Amino acid sequence: MYDIGLLIGEKDSLAAVGGATFERLNPVTSDLATRAAAAAPGDCRAACDAAAAAFPAWSETGPNARRALLNKAADVMVARAPEFVDAMMSEVGATQGWAMFNIMLASSMLREAAAITTQISGEVIPSDHPSRLCLAVRQPAGVVVGIAPWNAPIILGTRAVAVPLACGNTVVLKASEQCPRVHYLIGSVLREAGLPPGVINVVTNAPTDAPGVVEALIEHPAVRRINFTGSTKVGRIIAGIAARHLKPCLLELGGKSPMLVLKDADLDDAVAAAGFGAFMNQGQICMSTERIVVVPEIADEFVARFAQKAKALKAGDPREGKTPLGAIVNMDAAGHIRSLVDDALAKGADMPAGGKGEGLLMDSTFLDKVTPEMRIYGEESFGPITTIVRAKDEEDAIRIANDTDYGLSAAVFSKDVARALKVAKRIQSGICHINSSTVQDEAQMPFGGVKGSGIGRFGGKAGIAEFTDLRWITIETDHAHYPI
Ligand code: NAD
Repeated sequence: MYDIGLLIGEKDSLAAVGGATFERLNPVTSDLATRAAAAAPGDCRAACDAAAAAFPAWSETGPNARRALLNKAADVMVARAPEFVDAMMSEVGATQGWAMFNIMLASSMLREAAAITTQISGEVIPSDHPSRLCLAVRQPAGVVVGIAPWNAPIILGTRAVAVPLACGNTVVLKASEQCPRVHYLIGSVLREAGLPPGVINVVTNAPTDAPGVVEALIEHPAVRRINFTGSTKVGRIIAGIAARHLKPCLLELGGKSPMLVLKDADLDDAVAAAGFGAFMNQGQICMSTERIVVVPEIADEFVARFAQKAKALKAGDPREGKTPLGAIVNMDAAGHIRSLVDDALAKGADMPAGGKGEGLLMDSTFLDKVTPEMRIYGEESFGPITTIVRAKDEEDAIRIANDTDYGLSAAVFSKDVARALKVAKRIQSGICHINSSTVQDEAQMPFGGVKGSGIGRFGGKAGIAEFTDLRWITIETDHAHYPI
C-alpha cells in the first residue's frame, strides 16, 4: 500500500486541506492499493497559484534548457519503470506488457515534446503598409490544466502535460481517481528531472469530489487552457464549464471505432489487426475496434477465422502474467459490458467466441449479426468484446461506419490501396488506418477525433497550436499616417 500526497509547488507529499484521503483498491485482489490525498477546491486553487507563480520564469526559460529537462524526464521515467508497472498493476489490474508499453510510448512523448521546443515558430506576414513589419508570434498561454483517465494512465497522463510544458506553460495535472499513484509518479518524475517547483503540480481527489475540484481548476483566473481525456459524457460537462469561462478546451473523448473489411482484404492481416484492436488491454482503449463491418463476399470466412483468433486470447490474473488479457477495471464496467451482451443476445445476435466470464475476468468475446436495435451497436463497450456488423455491400459498409455519434479512429482493409483510400476519405473520423489496426499511437502524430469523440489534437506540431497563443505583433519603421 502506498500513501500519496499532493504535489504542489515545492511540496511533493502535501496533505489535503483538512487531511482528507481516499482509497483505491486493487481491482483483482480488493486489497488496498493506494491511499491518496483527497483535494478540496482550496487545494486546487493552491496548485493553480503555484503554477501561476512559476509561469514567468518557465515561459522565459530557453528552448534548449526545456529540452534538456524533458529528455532527462524521459530517462528518469524509464529508470523508474518498475514503480510505474507496480502501480499500474495494483491500481487498474493492467498486465505487465501493457504497463511496459505505456512506459515506452510515454517516454517517447516526453522526447518528442523535448524535440519541439525549438520548433515553436511564427511567421512574417506581408503588410499593405510598406514601412510595417508584421509578425505572427506563438507564446506560451499560461497555466494549463490536464485531466487524464486510467486506461492507458502513463501515456495519457504524460500526454496531458508534455507538450504544454514544452511550449513554456506550467501545468496542473488532475489525476484519475482510479490510478492516483500512477499519475502522481508522472509529476514525481518531472520533478526529479529538475523541473523547477510549481512548473508541474499534481492533485488527486476522491471520486465524489470530482465536480467541485474540476470547477475550481477551470475557473482559476491563471488557467488559460484545459485538456481533458475521458468519456464523452464528462467531456460535455467539462466543455460546458470551460465555455462559461471562455477558456479553450481540448477534448479527447470516447470512441466506437469501425474496421471495414472489403471483399479483396488480406484476411490473415485483417484477423490479426482485429484481434489486437479489439482485445488489447481488454478492449479498454479509446481507439479499440468496437465494430467490424464486413461485406458479404468475405463475411462468413472472416467470422470463422476471427472466432479461432478470439478463442486463443484468454483472460487471467494479470499478476500471473500467463494470459494476453488481464482484468476489467471494476465491477461497474464489467456489469455494463455484460448488460450489453445480454441485450444483444436477447435481440438475436450470435456469440461465436467468448462468453460473459466471471467477476473482472472475461475472455475475448465477439457478437455476430449485430443490428441497430441492439444497444452495443451504438454504445461504447470499453471491454473485451467487439461486434460484427454485416453490410450489404461496400457502400453500405461506409454508411454503417458513419452511423455513430463517435469519430475517433477507423481502419479499412483491402489489397487495392487506392480503393481503400477512397473509402478512408469518406469515413467521419479523426484517424483512419489502411491495412492496420484502429489502435495506433505515435507521439508526433496529430491525434484526435471528430463528432462525439472530441475537439482538437494532441501530438507534435498540432499540439503546439493548442497550447500557445498566436499573437500579431507589428513594428512601424517610419512615421505612420492616420486619417484623423
Ligand atoms: P471519465 O470521463 O469517467 O473520467 C475522466 C475524468 O473525469 C476523471 O478524472 C474524473 O474525475 C472526471 N469526472 C468524472 N465525473 C465528473 C464530473 N461530474 N465533473 C467533472 N469531472 C468529472 O472517463 P474514464 O472512465 O476515466 O475513461 C474512460 C473513457 O475515456 C472512455 O470513454 C474512453 O473512450 C475515453 N478515452 C479517450 C481517449 C482519447 O484519446 N480520445 C483516450 C483514453 C480514454
